[in-house]
Amino acid sequence: MTRVLVLVLSGFALLAATPVAAAPGQTAGPAGRDALVLPKKKVSGKPSSSVGVPAQKPRKAAVDRSFPAMRVALDPGHGGLSTGAIGVAGIYEKHLMLSLARKVRTLLEAEVGIEVFMTRDGDEDVDLASRPARAAAAGADIFVSLHGNASPLPDVRGVETFFLGAASDPGADEVSRRENAEAVTPGPMADDPAVSAILSDLRRNGNLSESASLAEAIHRLLVAACPDTPSRNVRQGNFAVLRRASMPAVVVEVGFMTHAVEGHRLALPSYQDKLAIAIRDGILAFARRTGAAHAFVTRGSPTRIP
Ligand SMILES: [Zn+2]
Repeated sequence: MTRVLVLVLSGFALLAATPVAAAPGQTAGPAGRDALVLPKKKVSGKPSSSVGVPAQKPRKAAVDRSFPAMRVALDPGHGGLSTGAIGVAGIYEKHLMLSLARKVRTLLEAEVGIEVFMTRDGDEDVDLASRPARAAAAGADIFVSLHGNASPLPDVRGVETFFLGAASDPGADEVSRRENAEAVTPGPMADDPAVSAILSDLRRNGNLSESASLAEAIHRLLVAACPDTPSRNVRQGNFAVLRRASMPAVVVEVGFMTHAVEGHRLALPSYQDKLAIAIRDGILAFARRTGAAHAFVTRGSPTRIP
């Protein structure tokens, strides 16, 4: 009897020590996205493989253990000596964007398979070129730069989202020129050959189309969340902060701080919450579309993602 018991226990130990084979299609990320597998993962650390014990949450356990994840770089615009725009509510863009980025970070960090890196997490001067460099050093898969807009014309309002390109219209040129003003080396104009070279590189490695897709996803969710805020569309602009990004990258201009209504709204924590949810959902929609955050895709979130 004792002998049998020992044998059984040994067999159990052997089984328990055997790695559990993942279901087909669960271990490998989408083709070509292996780089998205992070060195460290937020996993539960609780294997679901107890012999004779029914798995309680087999689907979630499988997702948590072995999937590619996505690391999101959030870039709160400006900081330190660069105040950014100063709106009608008297708040600096640098403070407002840090507040918004922190809200987005909190929301994203609650998602399985998403990690967040901030290019700054204080009132700090960060050179425009250093922002994507910091994101790259942190292994970011996407780069989302957050800004508040400004115009000398008090009636101008709305949300607009940019990815890198020769300015698609004079308005885009104006926004990028203003945002580039703090750059150590001011950005070249749209016909600068350096921009053409960067764009051709980005096209080659697919980052440009992914940047467009990321911009579209975030913009769509922002516009849906703020129906009384006009959409100024997804556009291309020659932003210094995007030029050095080695990953899909966008500049989100969440609204005009200089507009009498929009400027005061942007200063409201409740409105920032709304924007943060939309930005998170846009990022997750992009992740689902590209398959980058496979964990999220598998788990799904039908209540939030249209
Ligand atoms: Zn800005």
